[in-house]
Amino acid sequence: MNIVLLGPPGAGRGTQATLLHKKYDIPKIATGDILRKEMWHESELGKKIRAPLEKGQLLPDALVNHLVDNAMQRMDLSKGFVLDGYPRNVVQADALEETLRRLKTPLQVVLLLDVDSSILMDRLQWRRVCPHGHGEWNIRLRPSPLGAQCPDCKATLVQREDDTPSSIRNRLLAFAKSIEPLKKFYAARDLVRNVSAQGTPEEIIKSIEETMGQMSAFAENRDFQLRS
Ligand code: AMP
Repeated sequence: MNIVLLGPPGAGRGTQATLLHKKYDIPKIATGDILRKEMWHESELGKKIRAPLEKGQLLPDALVNHLVDNAMQRMDLSKGFVLDGYPRNVVQADALEETLRRLKTPLQVVLLLDVDSSILMDRLQWRRVCPHGHGEWNIRLRPSPLGAQCPDCKATLVQREDDTPSSIRNRLLAFAKSIEPLKKFYAARDLVRNVSAQGTPEEIIKSIEETMGQMSAFAENRDFQLRS
């Protein structure tokens, strides 16, 4: 299954991408994770992107397109993939289409996680993430079973540099600006579906599976319904 997850910061894209990755054994490509790793490892690229990333600004399309194209070329996509945080605009959607054409693996669904904007701030301010990309938790709403540690690798959970009120505002604005043209782009290809992202992660993945079950692209491959 070839999936793109769209949604504002705090909608739970990362959590759902991780659940889909684990449940269906498909690679997860999360541009935010790739970029943060560069920043935490203080690579040349990491040093350059720190300032815009901390401010919640989008990075240049050419850079992100290149990173995704590179990552996808190196991955085994035979079972599909889940993209989280990419594409963010129509330029990136065009580039993704070109990459997928070359890899002969077309997109099957674009899921737009819908969530009431009033709860996003709470979700983001109390969010803590695994520094190795194993997932994210919320110290108030959904704590890790190991408290301050990642249940997968036991690393100490950290707060993202861009989960500050001013950066959150910038990221919400960037999302609001780009989502309508992106929705139009995918609606023209009959790929985009809205999914309610209110509720627990388990409830949300169930809605995702129900939504995919209703799409003809998955008509011959309904194994996810049997497993859910
Ligand atoms: P995310 O983890 O998806 O919320 O992304 C965190 C930050 O990484 C964003 O605020 C941007 O600074 C950068 N970023 C992630 N994905 C993209 C993208 N597709 N295009 C441009 N910048 C991105």
